[in-house]
Amino acid sequence: MRAASSQAQEWIDGFLFVANRPILDLLNTKPVLAGAPTELLPDVRALERWLIASRMVTSPREKAMLRSWRHSAQAVTFLQRLIAFREKLREAVLRMEAGSAPADTFLAEVNTLLLQHPLPALLHKRNGKVLRQTAFELRRPADLWAPIIAATADLLAESDSSRMRRCESCVVHFFDTSKKGSRRWCSMNICGNKLKVAAYQKRKRAREAQAQ
Ligand SMILES: [Zn+2]
Repeated sequence: MRAASSQAQEWIDGFLFVANRPILDLLNTKPVLAGAPTELLPDVRALERWLIASRMVTSPREKAMLRSWRHSAQAVTFLQRLIAFREKLREAVLRMEAGSAPADTFLAEVNTLLLQHPLPALLHKRNGKVLRQTAFELRRPADLWAPIIAATADLLAESDSSRMRRCESCVVHFFDTSKKGSRRWCSMNICGNKLKVAAYQKRKRAREAQAQ
C-alpha cells in the first residue's frame, strides 16, 4: 500500500494526477465523484489552475499570460474546443485500450493541430550537459494547443500501449509505469482499497457458503 503522503500528490489544486502522463490526466478532469460525472474544468479560471498543476505551463511569464486571459473570449473559445477535444481523445484512448487504433478522422484532426501549433525544441548547455527544452511561447490562448497536441501525439504513437489502461473500478485512465506492469486501479486511496475490500468480502461469503 502506498504511504499516506502520496495521497496528497494524487490531488494537486483539486485535480487528479495519477496517470503518469499529464495528457491522460486531462481525461481525468471529468471523474466520477460521489456517483456522478464531475466537470473539473467548468471555466477559464479552472483551466488556468489545471495548466499550472499539470506543469503544461511552468514559467512565470506564461503564468502571468494565463492570468491576463481570465476574462478573455478567446480563452473561453479555447476551453470549449479543448473540452470537445478531450472527449474525442477519450474515445481514441478507449479504442487503444481495447487493442484497436484511433479513428482516422481523429488522427487527421490531431495532424491539423500539429501543423498549426508546432512545439519547437532548442538545445541548452547546463553544467556541461546538453539539455533539450521546448521553446514554447504563449501569445494567445490558442497557442496552448502546442504542448497539448505534442503530448497527444506522443501518447497516440506510444509503442507500449498495453500499459495504457482504465481503472477497473472507475473512469480514470493511467499509464502503468510499474516494474511488473500489473497496475489495475487509478489509485490505492481512491479505488484500490475499495476493490480489495470487495474481493475480501466475496471470498469470505464464498467460504461461509462452503461451510454451511
Ligand atoms: Zn479508480
